[in-house]
Amino acid sequence: MGETAEAAGERHAVVIGGGLAGMLAVTALLGHVDTVTVVERDRYPQGHVFRKGVPQARHLHVFLTGGQRALDALLPGTVQALTDAGARTLHLPRDLVTRTGVGWQRRFDEQRHTCVSATRPVIDGIVRDRALRAAAGSKTRLEVLEATEAVGLTGDAGRVTGVRIRTRGARDDGQRADGSAADTAERSIPAVLVVDASGRSSKTPQWYAELGRPAPREETVDAGIAYATRIFRPTGPAGAPDIGVNIPHWPGNPRGAVYVPVEDGKWLLTASGIRGHHPPTDDRGFADFTATVGDPFIHGLLPHLEPVSPVHGFRDTSNRRRHYERPGAVPEGFVVLGDANCTFNPVYGQGMSVVALGALALRRTLESGGLRPGFAGEAQRAVARASDAAWFGAVGADRPYVSGPESRAGLLERLTNRYLQRFIGHMAVDPVLGAAFRDVFCLTAPPSRLLSPRLALRVLLRPLRPGPGTPQTRVESVRRAARGRGTADGAEVTAPHSAGTD
Ligand SMILES: Cc1cc2nc3c(=O)[nH]c(=O)nc-3n(C[C@H](O)[C@H](O)[C@H](O)COP(=O)(O)OP(=O)(O)OC[C@H]3O[C@@H](n4cnc5c(N)ncnc54)[C@H](O)[C@@H]3O)c2cc1C
Repeated sequence: MGETAEAAGERHAVVIGGGLAGMLAVTALLGHVDTVTVVERDRYPQGHVFRKGVPQARHLHVFLTGGQRALDALLPGTVQALTDAGARTLHLPRDLVTRTGVGWQRRFDEQRHTCVSATRPVIDGIVRDRALRAAAGSKTRLEVLEATEAVGLTGDAGRVTGVRIRTRGARDDGQRADGSAADTAERSIPAVLVVDASGRSSKTPQWYAELGRPAPREETVDAGIAYATRIFRPTGPAGAPDIGVNIPHWPGNPRGAVYVPVEDGKWLLTASGIRGHHPPTDDRGFADFTATVGDPFIHGLLPHLEPVSPVHGFRDTSNRRRHYERPGAVPEGFVVLGDANCTFNPVYGQGMSVVALGALALRRTLESGGLRPGFAGEAQRAVARASDAAWFGAVGADRPYVSGPESRAGLLERLTNRYLQRFIGHMAVDPVLGAAFRDVFCLTAPPSRLLSPRLALRVLLRPLRPGPGTPQTRVESVRRAARGRGTADGAEVTAPHSAGTD
């Protein structure tokens, strides 16, 4: 904190980035500091529309169960508010069915996990509204500086004391890009705590160099995945079925596609491919690509869908973790949250949930004694623990698709991956293994759950059975299936959802 403010006893925090992590960081800080200033590069749009600062927002975004719980713990009622704004709640695997290497998942009526699916502007808009409302009802004052960019940190190698900012769009001569005068002069905001929530483009490693600190250790596992997404509207009730469909990559299948409902009766179709299999972004190429993914089902829906957006692409999808939780890797007064800390291959749909879990970890660290010497390191370790499960899952799954030094997995990881491949083979048809897998995937149980002796025996001793050849139209009773009465490949699998037959 600056000397003047410190002398006045004022505790001021600055959050860099007013996206999802930034807004959830604000909620974590309420009641623990006197003032929070959010520095956001963009101007927020009116309504739920795309903005430049979150370029990935054009693509499919689902919130998993673990993330929803964290979101509601931080901002009670937010999941319901998302639903009220049109977000769709998809029970897994009933309403969002996945194709695996052994066939389609059976559509159990499991009711343990939901995905909340909406376009990203809706998610960000609702979370921002609720965070601003929570701040208005708190004794902490909140100031949001829009169109303002953080350009560096103040302090020294041992302590961050604030943020250097400037008005966005200003040039060196004091004018905005449009020629009007702007308050361009760089200025500093002092703070007892700075939270970097600036997303994938975080400049903290460079800012560390200016403070005389070494960059944090960085780990990257990049399967080179690219996304292409288009929004559609079904053309009529007899057209595409009302069921989300996920065709991921699996060994031997480098291309995937996901089709999910979002608000306002619209559906999002995201195609993806690993390096060498990137989906095109022209209309024809995009449609043709969907015929080449691991199953023809989604391609068969296209005649029943009307496009309502262009095709948008995205390529920066690596798993990248900056190890700020290592001893001494954050100076006092500084915490890194969200994608600035850890990004994930988006096909696993975990990034936003990890943001919410990380913000909750930050709040809990504040609740257990407030800002104190050593707080930054402690909070950063808690944020890292909140990312661990998603990180190890994503990195383990992606390792087979990468080359170079990052492709080398230790013996333990190799053994675990072979076991997990077999687990996933069972997961599609076995209700017990399927439920355990979803608990971990949805971030409500630790990955160690998958290694319990009871489950391991089931994975290793039972023969692998194929899943249905097409998505089931009928939902199966999970109880019947657990008693061995349901079928993966027989009576309950009625007419397939081939194009137009639903
Ligand atoms: C293609 C794709 C699909 C995805 N799908 C899913 C999914 O299905 N489910 C899921 O949970 N996650 C998904 N994710 C991950 C998710 O998008 C991120 O985890 C999430 O956006 C992280 O939030 P954040 O606030 O950390 O970063 P962002 O949402 O990127 O926000 C960063 C904010 O910081 C601002 N900013 C940046 N630099 C500065 C600066 N210098 N000064 C001031 N402001 C700054 C930006 O304008 C922006 O507002 C996906 C990611 C990608 C790439």
